[in-house]
Amino acid sequence: MLLTEKNRIALISVDGDPAVEIGQEEAGGQNVYVRQVGLALAEQGWQVDMFTRRSTPEQLDIVQHTPNCRTIRLAAGPAQFMSRDRLFGYLPEFVQQFQAFQQREGLQYTLVHTNYWLSSWVGMELKKHQSLKQVHTYHSLGAVKYRTVSEIPAIASTRLAVEKACLETVDRVIATSPQEEDQMRSLVSTIGQIEMIPCGTDIVKFGSTQRQEARQQLGIATDAKVVLYVGRFDRRKGIETLVRAVAKSSFRKSCDLKLLIAGGSRPGQSDGIERDRIEKIVAEEGIGDLTCFPGRVEDNDLPLYYSAADVCVVPSHYEPFGLVAIEAMANRTPVIASNVGGLQFTVVPEVTGLLVPPKDEVAFAQAIDRILADPDWRDQLGQMGRQRVEIAFSWNSVALRLSHLYTKLLCQAAVESASKPQLVA
Ligand code: UDP
Repeated sequence: MLLTEKNRIALISVDGDPAVEIGQEEAGGQNVYVRQVGLALAEQGWQVDMFTRRSTPEQLDIVQHTPNCRTIRLAAGPAQFMSRDRLFGYLPEFVQQFQAFQQREGLQYTLVHTNYWLSSWVGMELKKHQSLKQVHTYHSLGAVKYRTVSEIPAIASTRLAVEKACLETVDRVIATSPQEEDQMRSLVSTIGQIEMIPCGTDIVKFGSTQRQEARQQLGIATDAKVVLYVGRFDRRKGIETLVRAVAKSSFRKSCDLKLLIAGGSRPGQSDGIERDRIEKIVAEEGIGDLTCFPGRVEDNDLPLYYSAADVCVVPSHYEPFGLVAIEAMANRTPVIASNVGGLQFTVVPEVTGLLVPPKDEVAFAQAIDRILADPDWRDQLGQMGRQRVEIAFSWNSVALRLSHLYTKLLCQAAVESASKPQLVA
């Protein structure tokens, strides 16, 4: 007999393993989102199984995070790192493995929350074979992304078609910002049901370290002016703009200015090309002496970096949400961000930081100078950022909203199944 436990749900994130180290290769906000949402939902009483693709032979099949929350790795293609753009062909195997897992465990999920377009396809396929409700978070929209890149990959037309089918047919699509919702409507489809529930952050872990204490631990001078970037090395992150802006800053010569560019993988891994390019630009601009690349920052050390900084810069060309901005704000560090996507929602200009046009290094330089020149204003912006995150962006509040949505959809499912004609034996 199949067991359909009322509170057991599956989060599916084929390409974003919630149990891996974050900040390198393609592991970023999506991985963090799935893990944190999973953990927070489990705390609220759900049994959460997070499904992803095995990407190295050494990885465990199952990682038990907490009693009610685990990551389950399924085989789909070779057990090696593969760029997202190459994964579509392996999805039928992922679906098969998911079904085999359900059978082995004697259970059937009645709700799946899929993440990124690849997983949306998996959810839609599963729905053809079993009765379930599907919630989806895009994390990135092809229709927006392809406007900002010079090389359109071969998979683009498939991705756009799947994203459209997803919006039009799944039970609920989550927009993580009003800007993302507008983009879905204007660029993907006017059909389908969207609910806006933002991403969140850990308001306990972030925000408990003081600036000077953090600097002491990181060996940064107390009177230095520290500009911080945190994230992956990817062209769309706009690190080049930040480097050129810092080179133009009026603080460059007059005091101990420091640029910390945190994130990235070990040498030889796939983001190396962008990292090499950025290092060349740093040398070309003559700011090698004030720039530091600490590499991937461990989860526990992130608060130190955010707290040590005078300002955190998010210069992305496109950003559906941008977790780094709210993490910095949770640490009372003002944010200067590109005036794009979800950053227009999280960063309130002149209140929690500043927004400037993407790729505009002069505007970024002016914004950096304004904040570095006025430590009292910096502290005020930081304080307001913290307040905004506490009110709107804690993982618990996000999980609570998701929880309500899941419950509503599962109740609907129960009503639908009760009203279906029953076969009389
Ligand atoms: N991150 C990290 N260590 C690093 C660099 C990044 O843990 O060295 C984390 C960062 O704290 C954030 C996530 O990676 O939680 C990046 O998410 P964001 O939404 O800003 O960007 P994405 O990677 O999704 O494009």
